[in-house]
Amino acid sequence: MTTLLVADDLFLEHITPTGHPERPDRLRAIARALSDERFAGLKRVGPRPVDDAVLATAHDPRYVAAVRAAIPEEGIAQLDADTYVSPRSFEVAANAVGAGIVAVDAVFRGEAANAFCAVRPPGHHAEHDRAMGFCLFANAVITARHAQSAHGAQRVAIVDWDVHHGNGTQAIVWDDPTILYASTHQMPLYPGTGEASETGAGNIFNAPLPPGAAGFEFKDAFQAVILPALNRFAPDLIVISAGFDAHWRDPLASLNLKEEDFAWATRRLMEVADRHAGGRIVSLLEGGYDLKGLSDSAAAHVATLMGASRPPED
Ligand SMILES: [Zn+2]
Repeated sequence: MTTLLVADDLFLEHITPTGHPERPDRLRAIARALSDERFAGLKRVGPRPVDDAVLATAHDPRYVAAVRAAIPEEGIAQLDADTYVSPRSFEVAANAVGAGIVAVDAVFRGEAANAFCAVRPPGHHAEHDRAMGFCLFANAVITARHAQSAHGAQRVAIVDWDVHHGNGTQAIVWDDPTILYASTHQMPLYPGTGEASETGAGNIFNAPLPPGAAGFEFKDAFQAVILPALNRFAPDLIVISAGFDAHWRDPLASLNLKEEDFAWATRRLMEVADRHAGGRIVSLLEGGYDLKGLSDSAAAHVATLMGASRPPED
């Protein structure tokens, strides 16, 4: 079965100030990498926007209304220390959520084995009632809850390997035992959450990594913490918060992963998904701010999802 790629030029229309790391060129770099002929087998589709009721599965409706009200008619408006909106940002963000929804529908209907959603803005810092860290809406949580409400998924796991801790995802699912949240991230680093002692309702698994950590420590965190938790949880779907800013080239953090490490983690999650979830994986782009590190890593991730490259079993 095929791998789905959910992408659209609409995602270039969320404009941030000049010099802001979360910029449209990120998706142009990924699109270029995925235009290579080895990705010819991808099934390419666009997203669809979601309505406010869908956003309310993770957010206070008053927050959703406040984001809409903050959208400028022209130029750029600021929502948070480093989170901005431009005239089409609400529409773009609603479609970023909708990309996850399209992907979930496809994998549960058997139209694709797994999916990668090349979206922006990212989502894992967005909280129940506030924008934060480049993020407007909690893409991964809403995607997980759609799998539950529309397809009867009992348990959904969100695995977040972005270099930053997904404080928003964690806070929203904190007391929801039907969603597991597992994260590797650099600590100390923005946003400051993500200690191993933060365990929610027994559904939160944080594996912080020290600055300078590389593939060895990353793989060890997966094997010691994340993969055992996933196998105990036995999810019906794995959602990946796929940020690629733990790459050694990334300017915002100081982990030292290589693209092969993301391929390795992808393969391990595919094994868990094959065992428990009928192979279903929906991967959503989060961060990643060096264009080469980002596009090389996303390409390695998608190639692995397609089964095109099987990394060594170390
Ligand atoms: Zn990040």
